[in-house]
Amino acid sequence: MLDELIELERIIEEGSPHLRVRSLCRVETGAHTFPVYALSLGSGDPGAPAVGFFGGIHGLERIGTHVLLAYLGSLVARLRWDGVLHRQLEQVRLVFMPLINPGGMSRRMRCNPNGVDLMRNAPVDALGRVPFLLGGQRISSRLPWYRGAADAPMQIESQAVCRTVEQELLGAEFSIALDCHSGFGLLDRIWFPHAHTATPIRHLAEIHALKDLFDRTCPHHDYLFEPQSRQYLAHGDLWDYLYLKALGERRRMFLPLTLEMGSWRWVKKSPRQMFSRLGIFNPLPQHRLHRVLRRHLVWLDFLTRAASAWRNWIPTAEARMQHRQAAVQRWYRDTAP
Ligand SMILES: [Zn+2]
Repeated sequence: MLDELIELERIIEEGSPHLRVRSLCRVETGAHTFPVYALSLGSGDPGAPAVGFFGGIHGLERIGTHVLLAYLGSLVARLRWDGVLHRQLEQVRLVFMPLINPGGMSRRMRCNPNGVDLMRNAPVDALGRVPFLLGGQRISSRLPWYRGAADAPMQIESQAVCRTVEQELLGAEFSIALDCHSGFGLLDRIWFPHAHTATPIRHLAEIHALKDLFDRTCPHHDYLFEPQSRQYLAHGDLWDYLYLKALGERRRMFLPLTLEMGSWRWVKKSPRQMFSRLGIFNPLPQHRLHRVLRRHLVWLDFLTRAASAWRNWIPTAEARMQHRQAAVQRWYRDTAP
């Protein structure tokens, strides 16, 4: 059995009066079959602002799932006594898919049981050069970053994410998604689209305003915000695919973000971790794990508040132009006109 799934089902049981729970698909791997859950709490109005928290897309990056289970567990515990939280949830919907790739996690693999990297599996092709293999490849499922066959439908886990985003987030005028990963660099990064091109997204001003709001709210944070394209381009990015889809409705604002936890720092502090496959992606000593689980709660809770009060900080008219200019200056000086 999978410890993360046991913990998720424990939280589901504890929070059952307040949670709407769906099992979106079942993933088979060897002797086991695992459900992929989506949970929501708060406003049931499809037009209410919403935040979606996603994790465990890459089976080795267990820490992303752990961070979301810590936040969800804390919300469920607070629902027993915290009237302010209940009032907040009247205005916002929170959606959780903390364990998207249980088959991969149980087999200690990044990809799903079919050998497909779910973050390279969407039907979007990069518009520039992608790094060899890492940018997504169709050579073989035995190599990492496999996209799946060109003419095949998306994997059931990817489809489950798409359905959840469409049903729970895209009905709202304003929504945010946060997808939790680990394994890149020394710093904790907040990535935003695009991953398939270095061209800025339409909602660059809103992303910059969100960063600005966070800087003012938590001045001592040390997240690095940047478009993923500043690091590398990739084929098949699921969030680019969903972002482009959301653009179909002009009034809709959907801001998909990725928390990329800087796992090299953990390896630097405990070099022996390098010899363990999980150690490259996860903090292994207990005290470090606890610190990681604590530090991101502030950011997750900020997103919940920012979404519920989005009308109070989303820039319009002149301010929007200024945010866009500042963002181009900060992130696209070398690439954009
Ligand atoms: Zn990842």
